[in-house]
Amino acid sequence: MQSAIQTPPGFMAWKEIQSLVGSIKTRSLVARPTSIEQCLETLVYCRQNGMTICARGAGRGYGDLALNDGQALLDMSAMNRIIEFDEEAAQITVEAGMRIIDIYQAVHHRLLTLPASPTESHSSVAGAICANVNGKDAWRQGSFAHQVISLKLLLASGEILTIDRSHELFNAVVGGIGLLGIIVEATLQLKPIPSPYVEINRIPVPDVDALLETMARVELTYDAIVVWVDAYARGRRTGRAVIHTAKWLEINETESQRRDVLKAGYERLENHRQFGLALHERFGPILSLMLHAQRPMMNLFNRLYYAGGELLAATGRSSNTELFLRFAFEASFTVPPAHLVCGPRGYTVQLTFPRSGAREAIVELLGICQSSPCPPVTTILRAHKSDNCLISFSEDGYSLNFEFHPKKNSEAASREAVDRLIDATARRGGKIHLAKDQVLRPDQFYRVYPRYKDLLKIKRQLDPEGLFTSDLARRVGIDPVLNQQRPEKK
Ligand SMILES: Cc1cc2nc3c(=O)[nH]c(=O)nc-3n(C[C@H](O)[C@H](O)[C@H](O)COP(=O)(O)OP(=O)(O)OC[C@H]3O[C@@H](n4cnc5c(N)ncnc54)[C@H](O)[C@@H]3O)c2cc1C
Repeated sequence: MQSAIQTPPGFMAWKEIQSLVGSIKTRSLVARPTSIEQCLETLVYCRQNGMTICARGAGRGYGDLALNDGQALLDMSAMNRIIEFDEEAAQITVEAGMRIIDIYQAVHHRLLTLPASPTESHSSVAGAICANVNGKDAWRQGSFAHQVISLKLLLASGEILTIDRSHELFNAVVGGIGLLGIIVEATLQLKPIPSPYVEINRIPVPDVDALLETMARVELTYDAIVVWVDAYARGRRTGRAVIHTAKWLEINETESQRRDVLKAGYERLENHRQFGLALHERFGPILSLMLHAQRPMMNLFNRLYYAGGELLAATGRSSNTELFLRFAFEASFTVPPAHLVCGPRGYTVQLTFPRSGAREAIVELLGICQSSPCPPVTTILRAHKSDNCLISFSEDGYSLNFEFHPKKNSEAASREAVDRLIDATARRGGKIHLAKDQVLRPDQFYRVYPRYKDLLKIKRQLDPEGLFTSDLARRVGIDPVLNQQRPEKK
């Protein structure tokens, strides 16, 4: 790379950028391109000035995977147009920065849905591809990788490659956390649905055996599932949970009726989100303070939540009809969302384990949580299906998503418990979701993702100067040009 410092293009400016809940604060030269030409211009500028680039979608990952402190960020949020919608084939081609919720707004009233959508509906398509996200339908529809038909990748050389599912780079780029190039466009497979409604059921299960037996049954007949787990229940109650299931319903409505009902649904989602944010703004500090008594408080909350589930089941009110939107995107368990309540010192760990031995895994992982001075504030279980991506979180098994809020005086002991969770996961061949990670160290990353070597091999061919990187890549030790001289942070 040359070292001459030039003036950045007009659409680039130095800005403070922080992680989702503000625990990581960075400063980057941010470009917000509106065209592929401006993406190229950014590449040229960065190469000429010895800077690295990290693409950023909507910045809805929890940690540092879309941060690049002291270097360039390519904010793709303005590249958010639909390029083509082939309704007959149920396929949509969009620019990289288009958000999941925008795709719903474009196609859901036409009785199409986008499987594998994460709860964070504001995530962008390219962000979902690069982190290979999963939805509440993951064991049935697979990860986001399964929904991608093809994508266009802008390489460090300036060349644009079209990569379809049969291309040798497909499984490296999908899930590749943006290290191989900039995704500028993607074509996704949508799924026909009978209506935008689902029947929702809440099934309380008293222990881990009932949990796994019921999961095996509901996975056969339902379309989406998410499980609230009481991580505080011990002994014979270990694994006590409430399983939330959803099944698509056939409901006859005209398109204009669907449009109206969905419009109200989107508004409600947005109101709910704003309400959660407002609540957090007003009462966040109090809620966070209350979390100092998290063990008794969350223990009580979980008991009440489970008892509520039992009461609904006993009185025959455990099922109702809802818009799928609500089931998929409203983090209906907690308002405001747990990650906000957990605040800057909080973090999330989502880990997988295979179906065989799932009982032992759940008992061990929950046991580790209970031995921690700060057990998780929320614990969610999902079922998954594997894919072939080099860096893939998905496997045939289950995941547990823990939201931690360590107290200041027990941060080290809490971290020690998290290390034991990671060790127990690696021992079983499980994975840690990079979209949510901010704790993995290089030794842990290499154990969990041994195929990182294959990714780096490809990276050295496509991006020999190491143009594309991120704070996460540096943290987990997969920035191949770590020792290279970088310009000083401004
Ligand atoms: C409340 C909440 C709920 C969530 N629920 C789920 C869930 O259910 N399932 C799940 O799997 N995840 C979930 N997530 C995580 C989130 O969906 C993912 O992190 C997703 O990747 C975020 O998308 P984004 O557009 O914000 O990506 P960013 O965070 O901006 O980026 C993610 C990665 O993609 C890369 N990238 C982005 N755009 C491009 C591009 N154009 N070219 C190349 N690389 C690019 C970035 O460099 C980074 O490595 C949740 C997050 C939150 C906050």
